[in-house]
Amino acid sequence: MRTHKVITMCLLCIYIVITFPARALEFATPLQQGGLVYGRTQPTDTLIYEDTPLSLTRTGQFVFGIPQDAADITLTLNGAEQTFDVRPIQWREEKVDGLPPEKVVLSPADERRVARDNRLLRQARASSTRDLFPAQLARPVANARISGHFGSRRILNGVRMSGHSGTDYALPAGTPVAAPANGIVVLTHPDMFYSGKTIVIDHGFGVFSSYSHLQDISVHKGQAIKHGDIVGTIGMTGRATGPHLHFTLLWNNVRVDPESVFTPTP
Ligand SMILES: [Zn+2]
Repeated sequence: MRTHKVITMCLLCIYIVITFPARALEFATPLQQGGLVYGRTQPTDTLIYEDTPLSLTRTGQFVFGIPQDAADITLTLNGAEQTFDVRPIQWREEKVDGLPPEKVVLSPADERRVARDNRLLRQARASSTRDLFPAQLARPVANARISGHFGSRRILNGVRMSGHSGTDYALPAGTPVAAPANGIVVLTHPDMFYSGKTIVIDHGFGVFSSYSHLQDISVHKGQAIKHGDIVGTIGMTGRATGPHLHFTLLWNNVRVDPESVFTPTP
């Protein structure tokens, strides 16, 4: 009798495993180019985005970023692969001609400096805390004019550059800059080639924010900060033609559009 029961249950399990289709993943935010995507699944699931295993919170929340030119993305839930189309975005183009060549093509010394800066930036994002989850991110400044949009492609003297890596907020020098969420400062730098005085903050689960061209930095590496804390002030250090905050939002090494995260998309 007991054996019979066990056999019946085993057959039932096999039946469920074979006949149930892969569970559909649900996302809380749209799948669009340059988007930061939030979703939830069972906390015990194994979820892989492209080739990267995603960390899940205790309640099964996850977050990942979509590159600005991705056509589709693949997620693998407990071994079952699912491909999703990504909504394309019409990124802006900005042509600038007649620039002095040294502004477009870097000297070998400057190239070495840029490579060193990029190495430091990548090292700062090599790991991310799981003690925080960036469920909400706020604009780091209020009432700013956007003087440069994320993703816009600049064509300098006919040379196509990669898309603009962040959003530029134009405000007077000295305007305070606030942390968009709780986090840990993972890098401060007094003078990077492009970005001047620079901060990088880890918000957890691979989400990082960075702040360029600052006039002053008021935090230090390793410091835990709360949403709304002032981290520095707007300036024009590095390669900037006027005072503004160049704000970058990343998921690991994928840059996403800050304005698409702050503004609810209809
Ligand atoms: Zn910028």
